[in-house]
Amino acid sequence: MTDFSKTRSMFDIPDGMTYLNGNSLGPMPKAAPEAMDRFLKDEWRTEIIKGWNTKGWFMQTNTLGDRVGKLIGAPAGTTVVGDTLSIKVFQAVSAGLALVPDRRVILSDNGNFPTDLYMVEGLMKLKDDGYELRIPDPEMVLDSITEEVAVIMVTEVDYRTGRKHDMKAIIEKAHKCGAVVVWDLAHSAGAIPVDVGGLDTDFAVGCTYKYFNGGPGAPAFIHVAQRLMDVVEPSLSGWYAHEAPFAFDTDFRPMPGAIERMRIGTPSIASFAILEVALDIWDHVDMNDLQERSIELSNLFIKEVEARCEGVTYAGIRDPQARGSHVSFRFEHGYACMQALIAEKVIGDFRAPNVMRFGITPLFIGEADIHKAVDTMEAIIKNETWREDRFQARGLVT
Ligand SMILES: *Cc1c(COP(=O)(O)O)cnc(C)c1O
Repeated sequence: MTDFSKTRSMFDIPDGMTYLNGNSLGPMPKAAPEAMDRFLKDEWRTEIIKGWNTKGWFMQTNTLGDRVGKLIGAPAGTTVVGDTLSIKVFQAVSAGLALVPDRRVILSDNGNFPTDLYMVEGLMKLKDDGYELRIPDPEMVLDSITEEVAVIMVTEVDYRTGRKHDMKAIIEKAHKCGAVVVWDLAHSAGAIPVDVGGLDTDFAVGCTYKYFNGGPGAPAFIHVAQRLMDVVEPSLSGWYAHEAPFAFDTDFRPMPGAIERMRIGTPSIASFAILEVALDIWDHVDMNDLQERSIELSNLFIKEVEARCEGVTYAGIRDPQARGSHVSFRFEHGYACMQALIAEKVIGDFRAPNVMRFGITPLFIGEADIHKAVDTMEAIIKNETWREDRFQARGLVT
């Protein structure tokens, strides 16, 4: 059994704060400052350029990639970290299209996170070769998989509602129709059990600053099925993907048969130092325990909010097996209400037009946090505190 009081003790969360936003940016692991200090003093300062060899920096894309891979069910050697998720989406979709060169349809859904859709739009413009992006309602994705479709690019867990796609059904139908699937696991990785290897997905991408707690701007990851490793096209063909980066050849030859071909260029090694200790916490966690605890806490939260907060309606999925690990509520004055919650140190976030979103992250959230959040929300709504002027101003980031 996972000991969640132990994992909680591994985070440094400000006193009195109830942090329900680990789905967007995880809090700081206690080990992070020391890890950064160690990196600065014992690696960068002392080794400087030698560190690429002596401290293993050059292959951290893979060593950390394997550790992330383990948490999403990917076999060793099929995942690398680096770059940002938007870039990894571009890279995976582009590689997917190259695998199905005779088709021109990319299928996603209109609930997908905008950057995923924007990156595909940019890719289509760049290719300028008659590509079409279809974005039906999420519920219609499965039925929209036809033999016209080259690549299906979907996010497993909806960033607003928490609704989960049926990965197995989508992958099976896609493969039957000769299409390639790119899964965005931004809201799945570290939130729920995922088995990319068992489901034989073609590509999976995600980030490490949400549930994996790697810190703002922590690297993204990309997984490619082993069976594709020889043929997958690294369209962002940087020198880190080259067969022999230090041969400094003038022509690009991708690293044969290895995930290195999805690397691009020099990654942020400072950021890897933090990710490494953030991932240590996961050595103590069983994903099934995590999901069970998340469901318990989410159900409690939903039930209490619905019973006590007038005008606030649950915006998510009732069946706990069909959702991720965040819960969302609609409230007409959602933005101001969230600001009032944050002023009381209950931290969630807001997604337009009216959704208040809360990440349920058992690694550092327990029942007491849920009760505090509900008590606070109930008081804000009863007293109409959200009406105060100071809660109306919008920040650059919501
Ligand atoms: C968080 C998130 C992103 C963010 O992309 P970045 O490049 O890291 O800014 C992209 N897609 C999805 C589905 C997300 O949830």
